[in-house]
Amino acid sequence: MLLSVIVPVFNEEEVIKSFLQRITSVLDTLSFDSEILFVNDGSTDSTLDILNQLKEHDPRISIVDLSRNFGKEIAMTAGLDYCKGDAVVIIDADLQDPPELIPELVQKWQAGYDVVYAKRISRKGESALKKLTSKAFYRVIKRVSHVPIPEDTGDFRLMSRRAVNALNSLRERNRYMKGLFAWIGYSQTAVLYHRDPRYAGESKWSYLSLWDLAIEGITSFTVAPLKLSTYLGLLTATGAFIYGLWIIIKTLIYSDPVAGYPTMMVVILFLGGVQLLALGIIGEYLGRIFSESKQRPLYLVNEHHKSETVGAVKKRAKVKAKSKD
Ligand code: UDP
Ligand code: MG
Repeated sequence: MLLSVIVPVFNEEEVIKSFLQRITSVLDTLSFDSEILFVNDGSTDSTLDILNQLKEHDPRISIVDLSRNFGKEIAMTAGLDYCKGDAVVIIDADLQDPPELIPELVQKWQAGYDVVYAKRISRKGESALKKLTSKAFYRVIKRVSHVPIPEDTGDFRLMSRRAVNALNSLRERNRYMKGLFAWIGYSQTAVLYHRDPRYAGESKWSYLSLWDLAIEGITSFTVAPLKLSTYLGLLTATGAFIYGLWIIIKTLIYSDPVAGYPTMMVVILFLGGVQLLALGIIGEYLGRIFSESKQRPLYLVNEHHKSETVGAVKKRAKVKAKSKD
């Protein structure tokens, strides 16, 4: 039995050592082998050097070094491609996801669940605005998408080999992982936890990138906005038709003199706005079709340092000692 822990890292020099300490002390309590797979997502600080140093002391560490920064979703994908475990845990490096929860995740997996996701009961150290927008987003996506994406759930989760293989077979370029996790189905369950504030360093997500992620999430899991623009168009067209009728009747009965510059402006501006909005929505989907159609690889790897189980290292040492004799 092998447990892989995937850790996407991007400029995390301040937290990596403390992270490794905490995760190893948890993994040591487990009764099976483990591998800690760091995906270096194009860090520009000393993260990679620190990882290489740490690897010298701990053969469980595996490093996949991506050729540049691809973003967390892709970094996780790379991790899932390279991991070998029978069960796989995805966890952030900044200790916002407590490693101490892993044994509980493992328990549920042993009880037969394919996906065990960690659900936040509280989030410490995050602004009210972030909590509010995040909550609103999960409510919206829940209503519009056809797959049930669990609320208040990040990427912190455990997956069985079968679930990981299923996920790896989804090679779309626009990857909204939380949606993909849900899409694969299988038996899923939640474990509750309190989310801690970031241990050190800064969040890599700005509100702009969160907005992008939200658009990504919605457009890759539902065509509801396209439908919405159809209905909006239908509604305004019906409204305009009725209003037109009313104007004709009014002119016939009361023979009103020509007036109505303001109404004209309002109608023109409104329709112009609606048309641009609809075009924009179509554009969002078109752009995604464009990037899918290019068929580029999801990421490129610079270097890959494999992990070794503690057992394998001991065995090799034994063989070496024997050959000396
Ligand atoms: N991360 C990454 N690539 C990126 C951005 C972030 O691999 O482009 C990693 C980061 O190193 C961390 C995890 O994703 O391990 C979560 O990032 P962060 O803590 O910045 O996000 P937040 O917790 O604020 O959502
Ligand atoms: Mg974080």
